[in-house]
Amino acid sequence: MAQPWTLTARWLIPVDGPPLPGGTLTIAGERIAAIEPHGQRTPDLDLGSVAVLPGFVNAHTHLDLTGMRGRCPPTPNFTDWLRGVVRHRRARVPDLPAWNVFDGVTQAVRTGTTLLGDIVGAEAANGYRPPECCRVVAFRELLGLPFERIQPAWETGVRWVKLPTDATSLVRRGLSPHAPYSVHQLLFRQVASRARQQCAGSREVGRPHLQLPVAIHLAETRAELDLLAEHRGPFVEFLTALGAWNPDGLVSEPEQLIEMFADAGPVLFVHGNYLDPATAIPPNASIVYCPRTHAAFGHAPHPLREFLQRGLRVALGTDSLASNPDLDMLAEARFLHRHCPDVPAADVLRMMTLSGAEALGWEAETGSLTPGKSADLVVLPLPDVDVVDPCALVLQSAKSVYMVLFRGGWTVCDP
Ligand SMILES: [Zn+2]
Repeated sequence: MAQPWTLTARWLIPVDGPPLPGGTLTIAGERIAAIEPHGQRTPDLDLGSVAVLPGFVNAHTHLDLTGMRGRCPPTPNFTDWLRGVVRHRRARVPDLPAWNVFDGVTQAVRTGTTLLGDIVGAEAANGYRPPECCRVVAFRELLGLPFERIQPAWETGVRWVKLPTDATSLVRRGLSPHAPYSVHQLLFRQVASRARQQCAGSREVGRPHLQLPVAIHLAETRAELDLLAEHRGPFVEFLTALGAWNPDGLVSEPEQLIEMFADAGPVLFVHGNYLDPATAIPPNASIVYCPRTHAAFGHAPHPLREFLQRGLRVALGTDSLASNPDLDMLAEARFLHRHCPDVPAADVLRMMTLSGAEALGWEAETGSLTPGKSADLVVLPLPDVDVVDPCALVLQSAKSVYMVLFRGGWTVCDP
């Protein structure tokens, strides 16, 4: 075991406790050994006027669309945008998705992300192997609204989750039955039942990595709600053209899906832009809000504040580069802070760290500067101004991540 070493900085922001001015963080090998207030321990390394935060968590992205930056800009016509994404995916040369995943991870890590929730499309699934510089929950995307597509999609999902993984693996596997407009309710039920089984099994043996995390795009557009309620609107034409229209397979409303996945381990309902703010969300489930993507499509205001007031877990994601300019979680959080200055800065930092780790089922290992957890942390220079709330300063500053420590080792040192 390597010799423990201690660092100090102008601010340590552990997220699961109050910020510590001049605090010290002790690292032993890959793990955080201690976090203490100023003056209790002599540091080996003084990082100076910086904030040290937990590694960021991007709870929702599609790394295999990293090549789409600027190619299919979001428009208010969501199904038109989807057509563009489908065209892009079909036109790619076979090696490109794997390169997109590699490129996406590199971009994410450089900006401080150490845990990603990635949706893995069919083209990227074969030989999916992100570089080992961060953790990834890899959700295999499942599509299938027509009855005859349920079984093949289910078999794809089962093959994916049976691939070997162990407690030390940096990639955990999950499933992403894509969305209520593209997945038959029976396929949702199969996934829910499998997730419930795995969750109960993992609890019995105390091994969180045996859970089956699930991610579902939900209530992203008003058109989706119209489709579920009345089987009409632009999705009908979109799905008909793809040979995938089957009104009998649709769930009737988002609430039906949410209920279906209660007690099923980590479940991420991605977007939730048009969910009723009073919707009952079970404790195992999280909402993933993607602020810049939400704004790019011109959606109605997100029920974020109501969800936070109700104590629901909201994590942050960038979504893919088909709808966002970059995979930079700090940029995402700063955008949110600018547009919702009434949401406390400490809450925003929690959404991009610990809440994301909880949403993805990896909170025992990462997401906060807590003794026993992996030493995954971000070093962020601070502007030279006096500060009352260091969390607000992090979000108001324009400075970029300087260094990233992952499992106790420095991964990035941008000048
Ligand atoms: Zn998405």
